[in-house]
Amino acid sequence: MMRGKSVLVTGSTSGIGLGIARAFAAQGANVTLNGFGDPHAVEEQRRGIEEEFGVAAAYSGADVTKPDEIAAMIGAAEDAFGAIDVLVNNAGIQFVAKVEEFPVEKWDAVIATNLSAVFHSCRCALPGMKRLGWGRIINIASAHGLVGSAGKAAYVAAKHGVVGLTKVVAIETADHGITCNAICPGWVMTPLVAQQVEARARATGKPFDAAKREFVAEKQPMARSTSPEEVGALAVFLAGDAAGTITGASYSIDGGWTAQ
Ligand code: NAD
Repeated sequence: MMRGKSVLVTGSTSGIGLGIARAFAAQGANVTLNGFGDPHAVEEQRRGIEEEFGVAAAYSGADVTKPDEIAAMIGAAEDAFGAIDVLVNNAGIQFVAKVEEFPVEKWDAVIATNLSAVFHSCRCALPGMKRLGWGRIINIASAHGLVGSAGKAAYVAAKHGVVGLTKVVAIETADHGITCNAICPGWVMTPLVAQQVEARARATGKPFDAAKREFVAEKQPMARSTSPEEVGALAVFLAGDAAGTITGASYSIDGGWTAQ
């Protein structure tokens, strides 16, 4: 179903984005990876995907806080694969502090990475999708796109913004064969969350595993985190034919976090 399609996943050198890129490659899609990281490790991931799944994989080192670098990345993917059929906006960062102590430059960085980048990549990819008369945009929001938590002002504001932006893009593209949806994961044990668990372990003197159990249970009725593979499978479903009329939706995959 995805064979020959071109899929661009921002922030796919790690965690959820890498899981999503691998899930699409496993379905036969050609993928463009993006994100930071050690060049040798990134090249190993890229080549590993080509060898394991028999697809073409490209890499862009674009910094998604820079609109001109996003435009260049979209252009390069269109040139390499003829189109971008599926755009997954996944790159994201976190910073935790109370509102009155939140460093202004951290607020700006979280909004630029987690929200403005989604606008810019949609803005740049939509003309090509409209020409094609087909496209899928999948925005990785968060449970924090639906509910708040103390200490996460910028992240929660950005993710609520992504859920709203998703609805507008869905409405504007409804007659163009394009859908736009958000995925709202609960805890996924990636470096982004592991650093928060480590901070908890340090603050409480508890071992990492105990701090992790506490961390998950605090928010989720289900005591286990979601895997990047599970998020990847949901993204593949949303890109498929059966999801043709699903648009403007926000899919929770959160162990019951937002059911409460
Ligand atoms: P991660 O830290 O493992 O990966 C983040 C990726 O984004 C990396 O590839 C990194 O290089 C890239 N990135 C960061 N800043 C970038 C920039 N300026 N330009 C280009 N790439 C950049 O984090 P993750 O947990 O896999 O998070 C991925 C997405 O999922 C984020 O949007 C995050 O908010 C969201 N999310 C994560 C969780 C979770 O529990 N881990 C839950 C809900 C939502």
